[in-house]
Amino acid sequence: MRELVIKDLHATVEGREILKGVNLTVRQGETHALMGPNGSGKSTLASVMMGHPSYEATSGEVLLDGENILEMSPDERARKGLFLAFQYPMSIPGVSVANFLRLSYGAVSKPEEDDPEPYRKKLTAREFRALLNEKLGLLKMDTTMLSRYLNEGFSGGEKKRAEILQMAVLQPRFAVLDETDSGLDIDALRIVSEGVNAQRDGELGTLVITHYQRLLDYIKPEFVHVLVAGRIVKNGGPELALELEQKGYEQIIKEYGGDDVPFEPATAETAAATS
Ligand code: ADP
Ligand code: MG
Repeated sequence: MRELVIKDLHATVEGREILKGVNLTVRQGETHALMGPNGSGKSTLASVMMGHPSYEATSGEVLLDGENILEMSPDERARKGLFLAFQYPMSIPGVSVANFLRLSYGAVSKPEEDDPEPYRKKLTAREFRALLNEKLGLLKMDTTMLSRYLNEGFSGGEKKRAEILQMAVLQPRFAVLDETDSGLDIDALRIVSEGVNAQRDGELGTLVITHYQRLLDYIKPEFVHVLVAGRIVKNGGPELALELEQKGYEQIIKEYGGDDVPFEPATAETAAATS
């Protein structure tokens, strides 16, 4: 069974320790939600997993099928089957969504002569087009987006659609989606959730990172984890997210936050926004 294992991960940003021993295992076919108050280190975890240069893993491991990805370049991580949303958040003038998807698929695929049963085999233009159409159908998206330049003038929701389509095309083994954007509204969350739900097939392992407590209205993770001050302080099932929705983070921060995380009471706006 394939698994993504985060083992006693410590990480610093600008010399300050943000992750203080994170342990989390996502197995093939499972959907996990990582929740937690603003500033608890959720995006730091995503950034460390993607190999962002500003975030330093100081100890611990992140194992993908037994191999420590922290020693790999971001490209290698992608070739191993890891997908991290916001890998390419920038707009690329002159590159259409269709071309971008073809290029990113090409970057992670392998020719059959290198590997008799490649996990993602090289595709001809025609085969790629068929894959793209299949995934558009799966996600119930139309083709109008394909000819537009990536992210140029895209709304928050359109960026999410492009990202979810990229994930569907790349067919990762494990996906980490950090729903951190200021553009994240209920619409965007719905797009992501429906996209993730459509791609659940018993093969894909997903870690959805969100502050948004009503996540469960849209996506049904089997496992929920709560990160506070750089540590996972609670693990549970969907009921844990419901509990957070009812009670907010106040109690959990008081209990586990120490002095590191100031408590900001949730308002209607901050409950809907994420950090
Ligand atoms: P979350 O996503 O849970 O809201 P973050 O991982 O974004 O939390 O932030 C955790 C802590 O790390 C915060 O105190 C934040 O200020 C700090 N931090 C995150 N990224 C950076 C950065 N690039 N430079 C400096 N500090 C950072
Ligand atoms: Mg964040």
